Amino acid sequence: MKLLLLTIATFLTFYGCNTPKKMETQVESTTVTTTTSSVRSAVKKPKNIIFLVGDGMGLSQITAGMYSNQDKLNLERMKTIGLHKSHAANSLVTDSAAGATAFACGQKTYNGAIAVDIDTLPISTILEEAEMKMLATGLVSTSTIVHATPASYIAHNKYRRNYEEIAADFLKTEIDCFIGGGAKYFNNRDDGRDLLQELRDKGYQVGDYFNNELDTMKIAEGKNFAFLTSLDDPLPVSQGRDYLEKASLMAINALDKKDNGFFLMIEGSQIDWGGHANDADFIVSEMIDFDNTLGAVLDWAEQDGETLVVVTADHETGGFAIQKGSTREKLVTAFTSDYHTAEMICVFAHGPKEELFRGIYDNTAIYHKMREAYGWPDITASK
Ligand code: MG
Ligand code: ZN
Repeated sequence: MKLLLLTIATFLTFYGCNTPKKMETQVESTTVTTTTSSVRSAVKKPKNIIFLVGDGMGLSQITAGMYSNQDKLNLERMKTIGLHKSHAANSLVTDSAAGATAFACGQKTYNGAIAVDIDTLPISTILEEAEMKMLATGLVSTSTIVHATPASYIAHNKYRRNYEEIAADFLKTEIDCFIGGGAKYFNNRDDGRDLLQELRDKGYQVGDYFNNELDTMKIAEGKNFAFLTSLDDPLPVSQGRDYLEKASLMAINALDKKDNGFFLMIEGSQIDWGGHANDADFIVSEMIDFDNTLGAVLDWAEQDGETLVVVTADHETGGFAIQKGSTREKLVTAFTSDYHTAEMICVFAHGPKEELFRGIYDNTAIYHKMREAYGWPDITASK
């Protein structure tokens, strides 16, 4: 703003000695510019971004969740809506690895790639960039924490199923907190390393499902922490998993205390698994769990006022449809696939800079929009 006023002052001084007629026109156009710029600069940028991914959450999954939840979802609180084109570099139908790499790194890559480009070279992620800029960072997931979606923010690997290598990449970072399943990739490994002990040696507070409940973990202020929610894959909601909301709030509160702003990715992983299983009840229960978590996140963000919340999916799973004869009590559903589909995917945004997420764009644009929201320099040209 200061710079703008200075520019206008210089401009007026310069044109002060011009003919009156020209002066008039110039001043008029300057005034118009000033007004638009002031409005724009009055919209402040977020200190924090919370990025929520419902894996496999197409529009039918959202719709099924909504009708099964008294016609209402927390997603409806988000007024800025867009669509993204989910395709991978080598296929119209993406997988979660290429999908997550697009969000995390702003590049289309091949299916199976974890934050590497089409030549398998590592590319920097928004989480790593946030760390470099001294923001606090976190990952929360209802799959293993080394699964494609969370992995693509913190690890670099040519193949998504190299889980032990991906787990080892967590030790190369300064991530402030992570919560998810897959303890065995940390402490029951082929190479004999105990990464949970290594995390402790690095100063992390570490908990796991075997030794304590997530609720009983009191995070010492300023301390990094990790919590492993299961040995392998976490259970579905229908079999008793209930940690997504509390884990998300725990991560938010810990990251917020670090004061510099934060980036947090939260994944509802198993909406996708319901799609693969062609199981509508599985989809709906996971969808509602994800939406309840979103409700708690939005409550916190609205209270905070400096947090941008963005929700999307990597792709749709199952070619899921709600058919003729459906009622709110009993949906009649069908599937065209046991894999992902290529449909465009909804993006929802709420908070400072939410307007950036309007329109139709590539999944990779989400990375650039989040960077722009933070006010980081544009790197589109170099990508
Ligand atoms: Mg996933
Ligand atoms: Zn999937």
